[in-house]
Amino acid sequence: MPGSEGAIDNERFQERLKAFLDALPDSMKSDIAFGVPLSPFTTLRVGGKADIYYLARERGALARIVEIAQTLGMPYFLLGGGSNICISDSGVRGLTIHNGCRSVDLGEITHCDTGYSLMQLFLDSVKSNLSGLEFAVGIPGTLGGALASNAGAYRDNIGHLISDVEVVEGGVCKTVSADWMEFSYRDSKLRRGLSPQPVVLSARIQLTPSNHSAIIERARENQRQRIFKQPWYPSAGSFFKNVNDAELAQSLPDLPVPLKMAGVVPAGYLNAACGCKGLRVGDAQVSQRHANFIVNRGCAMAGDIRRLAEIVKRRVRDQFGVELQEEVIYVGDPPDPKS
Ligand SMILES: Cc1cc2nc3c(=O)[nH]c(=O)nc-3n(C[C@H](O)[C@H](O)[C@H](O)COP(=O)(O)OP(=O)(O)OC[C@H]3O[C@@H](n4cnc5c(N)ncnc54)[C@H](O)[C@@H]3O)c2cc1C
Repeated sequence: MPGSEGAIDNERFQERLKAFLDALPDSMKSDIAFGVPLSPFTTLRVGGKADIYYLARERGALARIVEIAQTLGMPYFLLGGGSNICISDSGVRGLTIHNGCRSVDLGEITHCDTGYSLMQLFLDSVKSNLSGLEFAVGIPGTLGGALASNAGAYRDNIGHLISDVEVVEGGVCKTVSADWMEFSYRDSKLRRGLSPQPVVLSARIQLTPSNHSAIIERARENQRQRIFKQPWYPSAGSFFKNVNDAELAQSLPDLPVPLKMAGVVPAGYLNAACGCKGLRVGDAQVSQRHANFIVNRGCAMAGDIRRLAEIVKRRVRDQFGVELQEEVIYVGDPPDPKS
């Protein structure tokens, strides 16, 4: 689990921290902060503090700090736009590296830092009459987070646009082809819990010259659908992945025909069918508007969100025999089961 540091005892952790701080160039040391609250950097607005926090403003510094952390075994978590994570109330042990690298070189082959906003990249591409990112309208977060979960919507996703990525793995920076990412539905190599976690610095994205108004019209249609469906309270987007199960899809009489044909059952359909809409634990609630969104109605804790997600999973398991998989990523230690 990212940011979970149960495996290293405190003494060894202090030794690694000292070695890590000693290895950092002086110019980077001054940007290190301790005990930084992370909830304001997330769309769910929950979670505790980062033990150690570093905002990387340019690709060289991001590469350097990740190389040092990987080489010295310093535990770290890479934070993008915080729109697909639920950070534990007890915070994140070790180092949180916040990706603020936003350099972009736009063209048919666009080269972009992973800290750049995916939605801004779409807006930039429209101005240059480049098509491909229309699905991204309304998806918050960075390009890096989008790569990690192969973000997508309306039967499209980021993965198929990528030609190669620049990555730090095993303390070494290298450029690898898109195959390395192992993209699949809302998944990539970056979600496999590898330790240390590889970090993508930048990506090359293939865009297609297109008619300006056609691009705008496709994006507008996507946005219309989103406004109609999406809740307004803070959330991390769809909480669970949709289920690929042709037999289950066929057995559900009121599932729309295109979904039956594709053998896809939306998690929101299952949650709603189990009566989960409106379910609440503290200020965490299954949205009344969309049953696959868990929203923060004000003062929810990460623990409330996780407990509510478990209740939804149990109901779906009991009624449909399906084990829902989280699309949202839990970061940090799980809550104390007694609390
Ligand atoms: C209102 C709303 C609507 C949404 N709609 C959609 C949607 O339609 N489709 C969809 O797919 N998603 C959707 N999401 C989810 C989310 O916006 C996407 O998954 C987004 O791409 C996450 O990006 P991020 O920068 O916020 O990632 P974060 O939440 O910061 O991080 C997510 C994971 O990616 C890892 N990561 C981030 N950057 C890197 C990097 N450079 N290298 C290695 N690992 C990295 C992090 O360590 C973490 O494990 C929605 C979310 C919200 C709140």
